[in-house]
Amino acid sequence: MSDYVKEIMLRVSAKNPAEPEFHQAVAEVAESVSLVYDKYPEYRSAQIFERLIEPERVIMFRVPWMDDRGEIQINRGYRIQMNSAIGPYKGGLRFHPSVTLGVLKFLAFEQVFKNSLTTLPMGGAKGGSDFDPKGKSDNEVMRFCQSFMNGLFRYIGPDTDVPAGDIGVGGREIGYLFGQYKKLVNEFTGVLTGKGLNWGGSLIRPEATGYGATYFAAEMLSTRGETLEGKTCLVSGSGNVAQYTVEKVNQLGGKVVTLSDSNGYIYDEEGIDAKKLAWVMELKNVRRGRIQEYADAFKTAVYTPLDPKLDHNPLWNHKAQCAFPSATQNEINARDARHLLANGVYCVSEGANMPTTPEGVKVFVDAGILYGPGKAANAGGVATSGLEMSQNSMRLPWTREEVDQRLSLIMKSIHRTCVETADQFGTPGNYVNGANIGGFLKVANAMLDQGLV
Ligand code: NDP
Repeated sequence: MSDYVKEIMLRVSAKNPAEPEFHQAVAEVAESVSLVYDKYPEYRSAQIFERLIEPERVIMFRVPWMDDRGEIQINRGYRIQMNSAIGPYKGGLRFHPSVTLGVLKFLAFEQVFKNSLTTLPMGGAKGGSDFDPKGKSDNEVMRFCQSFMNGLFRYIGPDTDVPAGDIGVGGREIGYLFGQYKKLVNEFTGVLTGKGLNWGGSLIRPEATGYGATYFAAEMLSTRGETLEGKTCLVSGSGNVAQYTVEKVNQLGGKVVTLSDSNGYIYDEEGIDAKKLAWVMELKNVRRGRIQEYADAFKTAVYTPLDPKLDHNPLWNHKAQCAFPSATQNEINARDARHLLANGVYCVSEGANMPTTPEGVKVFVDAGILYGPGKAANAGGVATSGLEMSQNSMRLPWTREEVDQRLSLIMKSIHRTCVETADQFGTPGNYVNGANIGGFLKVANAMLDQGLV
């Protein structure tokens, strides 16, 4: 750790106590930014990074709602508006019991760099609640979403802040949130992305993060003259990102052998083909069941429950060439990373945000594998949200082919930025530096142009 990073981290830890995920995300970017500060001291004297780690605004609010038994429940809602130098705030909402201020600050911070990499004009934000949609009826989810929007609507808008989905927030939740926003402000605007197709949504938005992470892997492999054809892939999670990663890997000739949820994972040696994937989508998106049921439905699969006593995740201990962590943060530690390398994995494309611990990242970077960090590899989701905003502004929907082609071009462009920036700063092949610095420079220059605000 350089002296600059040590000094920054002392300040960040003192000022933001009990926010370990935020500290982790800042430390990683600070390492990369110190290379920029060495080369271009004007950013240091303008204290650009020091300004970037302070959110422009944090909104925190009570979310009271009534459950189906008539009992009152109280959750906490948040929106972190991190940086608006290059466009209106943009970033998802996460509904999960593990949500805290620190988790959302890490996600909002990452979002700033990710959105900058997409080439689209979007600032960074993130929000959500400690509400758990699992086990709730549709009516309970609706009442919660309406109360959440009652607390949030004043602070968002199509030219101010445009939220989207994330863990626990899919099409159903976006629908309820949009309905309540429309009722409160009496306007039909593109204030949320991930909307239904017949009320302003974009084709390919649900698919975009998983497809994008797969396109990014394909780009990384192409630097070695390879493709996904014939590659065995490990995927974690079984939600939105995981499902569409499986779909695109299959389309590009690869084979996915794992999926998971917060209770455990399945390993299907024969691969999760289109038919099995359709079954998973019905299980997760309609019946809202557990991945364990996969092993009852398909005898080719073995289910392993999560063992919290283990210091590693056995999902990452299978023979493969590619891995797509697509569940949550810190799901690959150093031991998992070493297991992946020992099993032959040399291409990791992160669908989730910060799924690898700093020690795990070091294992990948030191080994010189193709390691695409989340802020680059999973940027396809927010990029397509940006395309949804464009279509809303024009009041013109694009075809599936047009959106998919734009997504694929954006992922190629992000990949090129990572590779060229890593080269330019003396760390060829290091996608971590490439993504962090590539994302930083555009925002930093906009902040210099706009003065001390
Ligand atoms: P979903 O809610 O659709 O799916 C999340 C999946 O991860 C579920 O299978 C869930 O299992 C599992 N999971 C969640 N938390 C944990 C946990 N603590 N331990 C183990 N498994 C867990 O979310 P998404 O697919 O949308 O998001 C997945 C990741 O991708 C997140 O990191 C998100 O930030 C990131 N991402 C998402 C984007 C999007 O467009 N949706 C865009 C960019 C990044 P269970 O059902 O049991 O909770």
